[in-house]
Amino acid sequence: MARTKKVGSTGRFGPRYGAKLRRRVLEIERKRAEPHRCPSCATRGSVRRRAAGLWECRKCGLVFAGGAYVPFTDAGKAARRAIAQRVSDSLLALREAEEREAEAKVAPTPEIETIPEVEVTDKAQPEDAGQGPEN
Ligand SMILES: [Zn+2]
Repeated sequence: MARTKKVGSTGRFGPRYGAKLRRRVLEIERKRAEPHRCPSCATRGSVRRRAAGLWECRKCGLVFAGGAYVPFTDAGKAARRAIAQRVSDSLLALREAEEREAEAKVAPTPEIETIPEVEVTDKAQPEDAGQGPEN
């Protein structure tokens, strides 16, 4: 079983399926078996393929979606980047809206309570942060 100069893991197929197909399978299986880094605990070599596109870290137990034969593909990285871009954009828009809301709410308070302005704004901000998630 062990003595394979060039057929490697495809030695199990013997002479079947043709040399070209066996070489393609060998290339895929080599990449698949390389030590991959876990995206959660950053351990190298702990990520194993559970099924097509399903990867599992044997150390921290994380199961995540990836490529069929490698956990991270170029297309997957591009998609991740595009998603991160849109998420950060919408987060920025959300934060701006919250700030505008906070300004509108903070403004009337100093008139009602006759406390120095600096202290009022310090108190008002955490209250507004608590109100935000309710909506
Ligand atoms: Zn892990």
